[in-house]
Formats: sequence, C-alpha cells, structure tokens
Amino acid sequence: MFETLSDRLNSVFKKFSGQKTLNEENVQEGLREVRLALLEADVNFKVVKQFTDRVRERCLGQEVLKGVNPAQQVIKIVHDELVDLLGGGTTGLDLRGKQPYVIMMVGLQGSGKTTSSAKLANYLRKQKMKPYLVPADVYRPAAIDQLHTLAKQLGIPAFASTTQMNPVDIATAAYADAREQQCNVVILDTAGRLHVDEQLMNELVAMKSALNPQEILFVADAMTGQDAVTVAEAFNAKLGLTGAVLTKMDGDARGGAALSIKTVTGTSVKFVGMGEKISDLEVFHPDRIAGRILG
Ligand code: GDP
Repeated sequence: MFETLSDRLNSVFKKFSGQKTLNEENVQEGLREVRLALLEADVNFKVVKQFTDRVRERCLGQEVLKGVNPAQQVIKIVHDELVDLLGGGTTGLDLRGKQPYVIMMVGLQGSGKTTSSAKLANYLRKQKMKPYLVPADVYRPAAIDQLHTLAKQLGIPAFASTTQMNPVDIATAAYADAREQQCNVVILDTAGRLHVDEQLMNELVAMKSALNPQEILFVADAMTGQDAVTVAEAFNAKLGLTGAVLTKMDGDARGGAALSIKTVTGTSVKFVGMGEKISDLEVFHPDRIAGRILG
C-alpha cells in the first residue's frame, strides 16, 4: 500500500537532500512535485491544496531554510503533516459506558462489512474481550450464512437471525442474548446496497436509536478511492460515524481514500483490511504509515 506515493515522494526528497542550501524557489518546486504525487495517489484535490499550503507555510514562514540541515527539516514537516492527514494520534476503538458495548458496521454492499465484522470479533477476543456477532443484513441471505459460518469457525457466538426478521428487532433481541451469554461487545453486521439509499439509511438510523452504539464504523473498499470518501460523507451526515475500516488495502497501491477521509469527513481510519483471511486486520497507526510512506 502507498507504493506509488512513497516512490514519488522519495525521489522528490532525494533531490532535496542533495542540496546544501534550500531557498524559497527550490522549496516551491519541490512542493509542486509533492502536489502532483498526492494527486496521482488519488488524494482529494482540496485535501492536496490544504496539505501543500500548510507545508509551504511552515517551511517558508519559520527559520527552517536558514537553519541547519534544512532538507531534513522540510522532510520532517511533510512527515508531521502526513501524520495529521492520516488521522493524527492513533485513536483505536473507544469503548466506554454500559456493557455490552455495541459496534455497528455500515457501508455499501461488497465493501467487506461481513468479513470485517468477523475479523474485528477475532481481534477483540485477542484483546481478552467476549465478542458476539449479529448478522443483520436481511436482504442478502448469503450474508447471514457467511457470518454464521465465520462465527462457527471462530467459536464466537452469533445471533440466529433470519431474513424474515426486521433488522431493529434482530438488534434488540441479539443485544439481550449477548448480555445473557455474558458477552461484552456486540458487533452488528448491517445491510448495504450498491449505492446510498434513503430506506437503508432510515433503517440504520433506527438501529442506532435502538442500541446507541459506542462505535459506528464505516467499512469501505480502499480501491474505490474518492468514491469511498463521498459515500463516507453521506453515511456520516445521517449517522455520525465514529471511525472507518478501509478494506482491501492489500490491493490498493495508491492510498487516496486513506489520505483523504479524515480531512473530508472528520472520521479517522481505525483499522485496515490487508487480505481475505480473518487475521488480516491491522490497527491503523498514522505515524507508522507516514514513516512507511517516507521510507
Ligand atoms: P459485504 O457485502 O460488505 O459484507 O462484503 P464481504 O465481507 O462479503 O466482502 C466482499 C469481498 O471482499 C469478499 O470476497 C471478501 O473476501 C473480500 N474482502 C474483504 N476484506 C478484504 C481485504 O481486506 N482484502 C481483500 N483482498 N479482500 C477482502
């Protein structure tokens, strides 16, 4: 992931590092290349502008260019701004208050919700929690079977949802069952459509009202780039997202969604999916990713 951007930025900075002194002109030239590199990585154009403006201001506004090792300082500024772009300090899950906690997974069909629900349950169990899975995608019978199969493989309890049930009823009955089984975190795999639609949104809003989730995670296919960001905005407007899971990062060399979603929607990426296996879920650490991008 981020290979394209990483290669491009590294060649810009190689040029920088080769220069003993930096002046406004060669910083501007370097930033033009950074701008192109970000656009090529499919980063939202407003985000790119904001990013390069901030870097320019910090490089030219202070005594950076006159100080010792200006190239290193410019690279450090880009690094800090990249960390910010990716979400700043690692947030992780924010599970507080009444137990069982509730995590609602939302997003379009095919984004990786069902797989990510099971991955997250597996991750939480490793954190010594007792997860409970809830298939609430009643429009896609295969999704219910898929989650039941994964739950069984993992030995994690799951609610016996059927397509005849209403998703809000599933959510409330599942919550009661999870409490009875002394599970302390309920993961709701909700329905998705091929595009944002009013009825689906209303149903998700009703589920949110019924269970008051601690986390509403937007699951998006990273390979869809800026489309993922636009869809995130629509979900955020209706539901108030608390975080995002970007799936299929293993196939995304550009990283445009990861680099734009926080600035555009205010929602931080909390996890990334790195493959189809249950263990292919990683906590998203902006500082480590920025370090990886800048080699
Ligand atoms: P849903 O419709 O949102 O529930 O999506 P699914 O969970 O069924 O996932 C759709 C497809 O994406 C499946 O074939 C998954 O195996 C695949 N998938 C999900 N997450 C990842 C990931 O992180 N990497 C890769 N390569 N494939 C993934």
